[in-house]
Amino acid sequence: MRPRVKVTNKILSAFIVCMAFMTIWVQTSRSAGSSPGEIVAVDAGHGGYDDGIVYNTRSGQQIKEKDADLEIARAIISTLRAGGTGAFAVRPIDRYMDLSQRARAVQAKSPDLFLSIHLSSTGAFNIYVTSVPQGQDDLKQFYLYSNRQRPYIEKSRGFAQALEQSIRQAFPGVNVSYMEIPLPLLDRIGAPAVMLECPGPAYFNYRDTNTAGRIAQVVANAVMVFNAKR
Ligand SMILES: [Zn+2]
Repeated sequence: MRPRVKVTNKILSAFIVCMAFMTIWVQTSRSAGSSPGEIVAVDAGHGGYDDGIVYNTRSGQQIKEKDADLEIARAIISTLRAGGTGAFAVRPIDRYMDLSQRARAVQAKSPDLFLSIHLSSTGAFNIYVTSVPQGQDDLKQFYLYSNRQRPYIEKSRGFAQALEQSIRQAFPGVNVSYMEIPLPLLDRIGAPAVMLECPGPAYFNYRDTNTAGRIAQVVANAVMVFNAKR
């Protein structure tokens, strides 16, 4: 009987050592980079063969939404990082990504906040949160949804509100709308999630890099307000 006890003890010791390492690893990986509550996933809409809105300027230049989205997303990420907030790009380059690929790229890094950038076809900023079906009357609809967004919907609304205020302050003459509509990408996100449509290329000059910078500052302010409230 004795050797068996020894073997069991060795296995038990090895298990305890493994668990200790796991605990240390989990703690260090959590504390690496930014503090919890401050990692923002920034998604640039469209990409690859999907141009989004295409606008022809009077001088014959073509502005594609996918490029403007990417430039705004990049400006947001660098502005957030400069202010000490962690941020990463869901679509870092000009390539096509479907909704599942985007959702997987987001979930892989467990961000604390998700923002998807698009352009609108009007001169307004449009802010969207997904509409989560309420109650049991919508049971069928309920099961059509990926329910990852459900626990975060109030926080999503909170970030949308912070974003709306920040935009109104920085762009006083520009219309801002807020809507809740079914958004399959946002449904798949397990974090507060908002989609922002910036004014279309007929209204904002996206050839001027300062435009993306101004929008980035507005978003960074909203993130700061949102994080302070949590
Ligand atoms: Zn778009």
